[in-house]
Amino acid sequence: MKVLVTGGLGFIGSHTVVELAKSNFEVIIADNLYNAKEEVLEKIEKITGKKFKLYKYDLCDKEKVEEIFRDNNIDAVIHFAGYKAVGESVKKPLMYYSNNLITAINILEVMEKFNVRKFIFSSSATVYGDNGHTKYVESMGRGKTTNPYGTTKAMIEKILEDLYASDNSWNITILRYFNPVGAHESGLIGEEPNGIPNNLMPYIMKVASGKLEKLNIFGNDYPTVDGTGVRDFIHVVDLAKGHVKALEKAPNGLNIYNLGSGKGVSVLELVNTFEKVNNIKINYQIVERRAGDLAEYYSDATKAYVELGWKTEKTVEDICRDSWNYEKNNKK
Ligand code: UDP
Repeated sequence: MKVLVTGGLGFIGSHTVVELAKSNFEVIIADNLYNAKEEVLEKIEKITGKKFKLYKYDLCDKEKVEEIFRDNNIDAVIHFAGYKAVGESVKKPLMYYSNNLITAINILEVMEKFNVRKFIFSSSATVYGDNGHTKYVESMGRGKTTNPYGTTKAMIEKILEDLYASDNSWNITILRYFNPVGAHESGLIGEEPNGIPNNLMPYIMKVASGKLEKLNIFGNDYPTVDGTGVRDFIHVVDLAKGHVKALEKAPNGLNIYNLGSGKGVSVLELVNTFEKVNNIKINYQIVERRAGDLAEYYSDATKAYVELGWKTEKTVEDICRDSWNYEKNNKK
């Protein structure tokens, strides 16, 4: 099966390409390198021992999308490409709506034209919004999103539902990720945030490597196990494998799955585990809560297990070890 992976050189995309190749899918990558480096291609080729065709195209250009489909006999698309920075999306909403929505619609229109009907969408637990629950299950539906990035995910989910309702020959899988962290165990690929990171794990990495002085922990007065925020951290390799399972096993129709560990871990627990596993001290201070943060949420990951036979295999220790291994190997 020939799979087009958009955003295939990004953090989750690159790990997914590796797992697809390991499972003998033929992979074609589209990535405009907006938020990824071309050298990632060599690294995934090194890990897999395979070569990949890369289209450095902006998928907002429908002509370019058509060209990819004309050149290749594509059977399925995994769509990662999109802007993903929460804070930036608040400042530049039009840029986010325009890029994320147009890209998705272009691909779907071209798929329709070329009669390709298998689509996997990279969505996020952020679509549950603040719904009063801590454990998110797929049957809850979407809540109110709190930033334009999250809203683009919710809107694309809705577009996919409407598309499927109009033509149920589509096979659409929506994967809602919890907090993807970690890196490939080879130390060759991992997360490369631009500038000062906003997310917790990349920030911890910068403190561990001495590039930033201390971690700010946003609040320790939440009603959680130790007062700090609780999230469901998922190793990116487990997440990548979830995409392979979705391609192989998702039933026909439109299906939504949480991809998470099913377990909440607090910010302090993550910091403590990182220190223990890597024997490095992380300086931190407790500061004000960050606007828009929820106290606690994690996945109910039962559906993916029952229907796809997928569950996470890696531990929080693996996450901390692999993240640091990547950071050490890629110190600049
Ligand atoms: N967090 C923190 N300090 C940071 C970044 C994040 O204390 O520098 C906390 C944040 O308040 C939340 C958790 O870590 O409770 C995960 O935040 P992240 O931005 O990584 O992901 P989110 O869950 O917001 O998508």
